[in-house]
Amino acid sequence: MLPLVQLKGVTHAYLGDREAMLAIEDLHLTVDKGEFVSLVGPSGCGKTTLLSIISGLLQPSRGEVYVGGHPVSEPSAEIGYMLQQDYLLPWRTILNNALLGLELTGSLNDETRRHTLSLLKELGLEGKEEAFPSELSGGMRQRVALVRTLATGPKLLLLDEPFSALDYQIKLQLEDLVAETLLRRGTTAILVTHDLAEAIAVSSRVILLQPNPGRVRRIFTVPEAIRSAPPLYARDLPGFAELFHTVWKEMEIAGREE
Ligand code: ADP
Ligand code: MG
Repeated sequence: MLPLVQLKGVTHAYLGDREAMLAIEDLHLTVDKGEFVSLVGPSGCGKTTLLSIISGLLQPSRGEVYVGGHPVSEPSAEIGYMLQQDYLLPWRTILNNALLGLELTGSLNDETRRHTLSLLKELGLEGKEEAFPSELSGGMRQRVALVRTLATGPKLLLLDEPFSALDYQIKLQLEDLVAETLLRRGTTAILVTHDLAEAIAVSSRVILLQPNPGRVRRIFTVPEAIRSAPPLYARDLPGFAELFHTVWKEMEIAGREE
């Protein structure tokens, strides 16, 4: 089966006034359909740059990006992108925020509206449809942002540190809910996180990047027992701590070799 995401020799340089800064160099990666992978690595190793490239927001200097077998050249409804900040519009109700993506892509109709309402329910936001963002907690707002992203039915979901601004307890609950929701829908996802425990708890593979320039250093496969356990419990399973230390040590070395 063709992988859903294929990156071939992706290189990206940011051009400054006097010099170019090589953020990513010759990066190769594939992600299968239905897979949930995490991207980890020291700050500045190109994680956000890579997601922006996969989303079509940023054109790489060199290399090829395919999603679903097609070259990516611009953002599309097939690829959902969720950031740390929820970017909810304060003057719109929760439902109207959740419908925004559908409105913008011209695909709002009775059916997609019903689907969005059921997503709100699935993510525990029933009864909040007419509330405004300011009336909701940070965790709830992130769930609305997730509904808005899922409402357009993306084949691929890109998540850039979506939980990092939340309190620990809420973060764990949300990891659980998101992992479960994506698994149920069979949505392929790439999660960027600086939290190794989170990466190991929710994904099937942890992709470690190294900086200067950003490239894949090592890929760790998470044992089935850990990946299939709810993120909240995965942390207590045998093998979790060992894997955590292995990835952590490798990341330390990667960061020091700069
Ligand atoms: P990460 O998300 O892993 O922290 P980024 O992708 O944000 O890394 O950044 C990778 C490298 O590219 C860093 O050295 C960063 O300073 C640089 N960079 C990121 N965005 C820009 C930009 N818009 N212009 C110039 N350099 C940038
Ligand atoms: Mg980043």
